[in-house]
Amino acid sequence: MAVPIIKKPANAAAANLADYQQCCSEFTDFCSDNAASDGPQLKTLPGGGLNICYQALDNHLKSPVADKLAIRWISKNDEILDYSYRDLCQLTSRFASILHTLNLSTGARIFSLLGRRPELYIAALGTLKAGCVFTPLFSAFGPEPIQSRMDIGEAQLLLTTRSLYRKKVKSWRQSLPSLKAVILIDGDLDDEPDCHLWSELMQQADPDFPCAETQPEDMALLHFTSGTTGQPKGVIHVHQAVAYHQLSAFWALDLKPSDTYWCTADPGWVTGTSYGIIAPLCLGVTMIIDEAEFDVERWYRLLQQQQVTVWYTAPTAIRMLMKAGLAIRNQYDLSALRFIASVGEPLNPEAVVWGQTAFSIPFHDNWWQTETGGIMIANLASQDIKPGSMGRPLPGIQAAIIGHQDDGTSQIITAPMQVGELALKPGWPAMFRGYLHQEEKYRHCFANGWYLSGDLAMCDEDGYYWFVGRKDDLIKSSGHLIGPFEVESALMEHEAVAEAGVIGKPDPVAGEIVKAFVTLKPGFTPDETLQKTLLGFARQHLGVAVAPKEIVFRRNLPKTRSGKIMRRLLKARELGLPEGDLSTLESDEQ
Ligand code: ATP
Ligand code: MG
Repeated sequence: MAVPIIKKPANAAAANLADYQQCCSEFTDFCSDNAASDGPQLKTLPGGGLNICYQALDNHLKSPVADKLAIRWISKNDEILDYSYRDLCQLTSRFASILHTLNLSTGARIFSLLGRRPELYIAALGTLKAGCVFTPLFSAFGPEPIQSRMDIGEAQLLLTTRSLYRKKVKSWRQSLPSLKAVILIDGDLDDEPDCHLWSELMQQADPDFPCAETQPEDMALLHFTSGTTGQPKGVIHVHQAVAYHQLSAFWALDLKPSDTYWCTADPGWVTGTSYGIIAPLCLGVTMIIDEAEFDVERWYRLLQQQQVTVWYTAPTAIRMLMKAGLAIRNQYDLSALRFIASVGEPLNPEAVVWGQTAFSIPFHDNWWQTETGGIMIANLASQDIKPGSMGRPLPGIQAAIIGHQDDGTSQIITAPMQVGELALKPGWPAMFRGYLHQEEKYRHCFANGWYLSGDLAMCDEDGYYWFVGRKDDLIKSSGHLIGPFEVESALMEHEAVAEAGVIGKPDPVAGEIVKAFVTLKPGFTPDETLQKTLLGFARQHLGVAVAPKEIVFRRNLPKTRSGKIMRRLLKARELGLPEGDLSTLESDEQ
């Protein structure tokens, strides 16, 4: 369904990336000083070398940014802690010196298992400052996924809370020979004599500990993927990625020094690190961090109280806000907001347009993956938005749609709006350097000089990319190829539908039929009448070939902890098949 184009704003010329075509044609190199005029510069360390922490913090010490508010942390109970760039620089030096004292040498793997606490952010950057490798784990993981990730990553140090340690780590700690030390951020050592205490170590630590002179290709971050399609993979990123983190945030999130920025993602997922820690600090903005989980009223209150100007969030949260309705939204003054963006899942056209109704600005969808390390395709502040499209590749990023033939050959599809695999030409600095211990799987991601994303998409005549679905989720019904996103978006246009997850269900005649799982907005009853109405609505909008043949209601859809609908689980349950790796599953109430 064509949703009208949202024309670029009147002040488009003021955007960081004001002229997309020109910037694309003039672009030469991500790591050169003139990668973007007026854009962030890459600063090498005084003795040479490149370090993400230096770029994010130390680099600002000789400028007025040093005493600016870098992070405002808001606790679950609304306690506020403020950190300037200088504060963070000293605290991260302290943490780096602790690692040094504990004999954790360059490249040692440091894991965190923490909620969004200040210690997590200090440890992430302090680890990089020490030249070690950081892996943030989502604190809601159970013991098994924690252990398996720490095992794969050969964790040498874990930073966590006393209660998480006791509940989720202590019982198996001895079985992980690589693990040299555990630091607890709370409690006392009489309780846990085999651990170190954050406050004691930090007090004795060196606030001037220098930044390690890491090289661009040194490993910096090990991130685990969301596990939407199968077992999570350990993705390797290097220090040079910072060149792309900062430039892509400058372009795609339009961050300016005067902004108050809120990235709602947890650092347990790549968004929460690339754009929830590194990029905003490199760009010298003020960011807020909320310790609490999603809550409609709380989020609106924080946006208002903190005068957030740039907000980067995810489709699931946006759909929840839509579900809660405009009456709640209208109780808050959100006039400070000037740019809003979304990532992680397809953003239904309905949600983009809702942004305009609710905030007088549309949501800007962008696409990337743990593997790409940074935003690849984006709707930009200075460009028209086609609701439902992920936007266009950032300057310097070459994308293509690749068609795979049955005989094993493949070629680039140039005709507009043809479905194929979304591929990228490798070479940008944040590109992953491998899946840890999975060399074969890594090699399989590349063919004929392209990185194959595993996602299906189409490209239109203006170069805008349209998400179709994951390769694994594509439905083949009576000779038609159907992407779940199109069907889900159509269902979402009905006033009763809050969320939809669509799968292909095997069928002896059609091969597969489209089946939809739907959650409803408050005030709608999941009965047969509504079911029939929705089936008719979908047929009218999508045509009989594409519309679902079956619709069932659910109270919730199974999602990953990063908020992605797990269609593979809907399918496995439908077919009575093994459910596979559920380590990242969040809500499971059916
Ligand atoms: P796994 O690889 O373990 O199955 P995952 O792919 O969900 O998990 P991530 O790297 O966190 O792990 O997510 C990247 C994926 O999220 C993309 O490949 C794509 O399928 C989806 N995605 C991200 N942004 C968008 C977007 N704007 N529109 C559509 N899909 C998106
Ligand atoms: Mg993936």
